[in-house]
Amino acid sequence: MRRLGVILVLLLVAVLANIINAWSCALLVAVHEDDPDSPAIAVQSVGNPPEAYFYEMRRAGAFRRVEWEAMEWGALSGGGEVDDPPVVEDARGLPMLSLSCRIHTMSDTADCYAVEVEGGIGIANIHDPATIAPGPGMLPQNPDFYSALVLPCRPMWPGFVINTLIYAAVLWLLLRGLPAVRRAVRAFNGRCTNCGYDLRGTPGTACPECGWGRAAWRSASRA
Ligand SMILES: [Zn+2]
Repeated sequence: MRRLGVILVLLLVAVLANIINAWSCALLVAVHEDDPDSPAIAVQSVGNPPEAYFYEMRRAGAFRRVEWEAMEWGALSGGGEVDDPPVVEDARGLPMLSLSCRIHTMSDTADCYAVEVEGGIGIANIHDPATIAPGPGMLPQNPDFYSALVLPCRPMWPGFVINTLIYAAVLWLLLRGLPAVRRAVRAFNGRCTNCGYDLRGTPGTACPECGWGRAAWRSASRA
């Protein structure tokens, strides 16, 4: 019963660590198509004609997919106006991507802006659509959607579970490992492995301080 409780607490702490990690990636790892560290790779969906086109950008801890409807992409490549601005899928986490959200955008003649976050929390550069008016002479000069800072909140499968298990395993090893290291150091120095009392020159089989058995210390002192 106690073991089950420890496992549950470990998993809970691991879930929190997972969220903190993904949000740290969201705040610290910038992803932009102009950044040589995260080159935009053009991808298209299956189907003939394809239903959608994407730009995918990947860095350690971050992934962004900018998705256009096929019709708009056709207009774009043909030099026409894009009516429907892209939807941006934003995913974060290490070592696997574990949380994601969608950023809806809106464009004017100057650029394309983040206006709404679906399944996440907008932190910075999320614009009020009312301030972005399409048409010449009305350029808000706001940062484009790439600079939107968002905290994704939707768990991704299987990344969220895998990250949580990895963090729980590391925590467990740390918790198990630290007392074991302390006991080994005490035995090496001829001290009681339980309380650290100096047993050199002390007769008997038990620690006079705490009553702990000396078998471990004896074998260590003979070596
Ligand atoms: Zn002792």
